[in-house]
Amino acid sequence: MPIAQNIVRIQGQIHQAARRAGRMPASVALMAVSKTFPAEAIREAYAAGIRVFGESRIQEFSGKAGALDLPGVQWHMIGHLQSNKAGKAVELFSAVDSLDSLRLAERLNAAAQSLQKKLTVLLEINVGGEAAKSGLSAESQGLEDILLAAPRLANLEICGLMTVPPYTEDPQGARPYFRKLREQRDAIAARKLPAIRMDVLSMGMSHDFEVAIEEGSTCVRVGTAIFGARDLTAKP
Ligand SMILES: *Cc1c(COP(=O)(O)O)cnc(C)c1O
Repeated sequence: MPIAQNIVRIQGQIHQAARRAGRMPASVALMAVSKTFPAEAIREAYAAGIRVFGESRIQEFSGKAGALDLPGVQWHMIGHLQSNKAGKAVELFSAVDSLDSLRLAERLNAAAQSLQKKLTVLLEINVGGEAAKSGLSAESQGLEDILLAAPRLANLEICGLMTVPPYTEDPQGARPYFRKLREQRDAIAARKLPAIRMDVLSMGMSHDFEVAIEEGSTCVRVGTAIFGARDLTAKP
């Protein structure tokens, strides 16, 4: 189905899910996850009104970024980022939603400082505690270290949390994990730590974004349902 039609359908589903939860539909942003898809597909989504895009590989995105001069777009890095690619990430992206170590935070901050940029970041939480997934474990020292270092990371704006829950066939299976992330966000917010904002809860993907919205998501990251199935032979 054409990308524009998919976007209209998903926006309707977001609207309904927000209403069901007694929330304002405008409180949920739709991020189009365009990894593995060509610049042409991104332009189509842009023409249909999308202004926030998620990409997960520096190398792939840097190859197509040159062909994409789209006014008003926010490019978010949502995949695991190695510290040695922090400089490149700061050049290419306005936000990193997958911050998962103090070391990476320090590298990003230094890179942002030298480019005189502010970088928006989310802390990625491995809410299911899965060994194969990146992300900070909830209540870990690693998470605490970043929270406490925030005042000296002056070029980072820490705005909230992001998660990819364990995959379950039934989207309802993700609900307890989404709820857990929201509770963790609330707990961090209640501490009123300096230089920490907790406005953003980035959770929910193609198959479970409606459940995520019911649990408080403020940003859903949708790839497949907008662009179609990814070529699995390509690296994600
Ligand atoms: C690929 C990806 C998505 C989008 O997944 P779909 O199931 O295609 O919607 C969302 N978040 C992250 C972190 C991803 O890597």
